[in-house]
Amino acid sequence: MGRKRVLITGAAGFLGSHLCDRFIKEGYYVIAMDNLITGDLKNIEHLFGLESFEFAHHDVSKFVHVPGKLDYILHFASPASPIDYLKIPIQTLKVGSLGTHNLLGLAKNKKARMLIASTSEVYGDPSVNPQPEEYWGNVNPVGPRGVYDEAKRFQEAMTMAYHTFHGVETRIVRIFNTYGPRMRLNDGRVLPAFIGQALRGEDLTVFGDGSQTRSFCYVDDLIEGIYRLLLSDYVMPVNIGNPDEITIKQFGEEIIKLTGTNQKLVLRDLPVDDPKQRRPDITKAREILGWEPKVSREEGLKITYEYFKSLPAEALINKEH
Ligand code: NAD
Ligand code: UDP
Repeated sequence: MGRKRVLITGAAGFLGSHLCDRFIKEGYYVIAMDNLITGDLKNIEHLFGLESFEFAHHDVSKFVHVPGKLDYILHFASPASPIDYLKIPIQTLKVGSLGTHNLLGLAKNKKARMLIASTSEVYGDPSVNPQPEEYWGNVNPVGPRGVYDEAKRFQEAMTMAYHTFHGVETRIVRIFNTYGPRMRLNDGRVLPAFIGQALRGEDLTVFGDGSQTRSFCYVDDLIEGIYRLLLSDYVMPVNIGNPDEITIKQFGEEIIKLTGTNQKLVLRDLPVDDPKQRRPDITKAREILGWEPKVSREEGLKITYEYFKSLPAEALINKEH
């Protein structure tokens, strides 16, 4: 039989790199693919040199060729932070659509099982809270976030079509806001933004009045949920996230307390179409996967703060905005 072989796209990114670690630990042969558009080889450099790991520098929106057998494909390549996908909207649409199509074709050829990284953004600015998988969402296709949301909705539709019409084994995870070590300090997402500002001695920028909510999941919990979903028999989308919901203003106050900064919260304009509320209904994950998050926000934030503090000083320079 030999060792199981898994292709992970977006492997040099935040989540992809943690997936590489997990699959290496479970004894798989990992083929890590990335074009480094938002990722960083530093996230996986500790795996270089392992005989069960290889890296392929490739844009998955172009034809994907992988020699040898493949058992699993995890498609995580895509810009994920709002400032990233606003900066590279066309690449975002392409990796969700053309990239997904290429990888589904590869899965079909190799008879591999494919899991795609979908997102809570398929629910848009939801009118239902918490969001169960049956909710169809409230997305503005022509707004600035449409490039990401619609790419992911198309990705889900294409994945279901390959499952239904070609019999490809597919899994769909809808990931809610996840945080942890290896996030880019300057990627614009709220947690690195607030911690970066605290470390630089700047005020923390709350967008809008800070009453919008999010529910933050620690990365180890997410990876466990994804691993269980991949090995399960369940084909329909599953939410993976932490239902502990908090306003962005409260979150800012928690970061002030955690970092001990003397700075304060300052209000800035709310980005267009910023969802007002977000919280996963994780009934399915509990029932089908026996999964629920284990790491509290207090614990996860401490670990993440230690990680950001350990970075070299030049990482703190705010290059991106
Ligand atoms: P990230 O930006 O850290 O990682 C994405 C990786 O994909 C990067 O390494 C980037 O270089 C690579 N990539 C982008 N386009 C590519 C292409 N065309 N070809 C090859 N590689 C490409 O983001 P992340 O937070 O790790 O997100 C990973 C996946 O999880 C994304 O698909 C994202 O939509 C999804 N997701 C993440 C979250 C979250 O909270 N982190 C929430 C929902 C969904
Ligand atoms: N946000 C904020 N200040 C920042 C960055 C983000 O108040 O410096 C807000 C943003 O408007 C949103 C929430 O924090 O309401 C989460 O934003 P993020 O970009 O992390 O992810 P999203 O869930 O919007 O994709």
